[in-house]
Amino acid sequence: MTTLFAKIVRGEIPADIVYQDDSVTAFRDINPVAPTHILIVPNKVIPTVNDLTAADEQVAGHMLVVAAKIAAEEGIAEDGYRLIINCNEYGGQVVFHLHMHLVGGRPLGQMVLRPR
Ligand code: AMP
Repeated sequence: MTTLFAKIVRGEIPADIVYQDDSVTAFRDINPVAPTHILIVPNKVIPTVNDLTAADEQVAGHMLVVAAKIAAEEGIAEDGYRLIINCNEYGGQVVFHLHMHLVGGRPLGQMVLRPR
């Protein structure tokens, strides 16, 4: 299975990659919602959080560690930031290759809008 993000991981389509190692890749979101908006993805295709298995614990944890490292490098660690993983339709997932959004650089407000 391939995905848009798998092509970015393999360098087949361009992206502003800020970090890459054997298991994860991080690149700037093409349509940023804040001054820092970076996506952290496993190099292997895992479509959604629902598809994670015990065998993925290391890569899933590594995504968090890499997020913290990038936040420090971006200079947003102290002010704070938000990590978001959308899952399926209600979660607003559009690209079905697991990814963690690292968003910061401005106050982000309420986490989820309350229904009126
Ligand atoms: P999600 O709604 O969680 O699936 O988020 C998908 C994200 O991927 C969106 O924030 C898009 O702006 C971003 N995106 C889509 N295509 C690209 C691309 N080619 N390079 C970087 N980010 C992208």
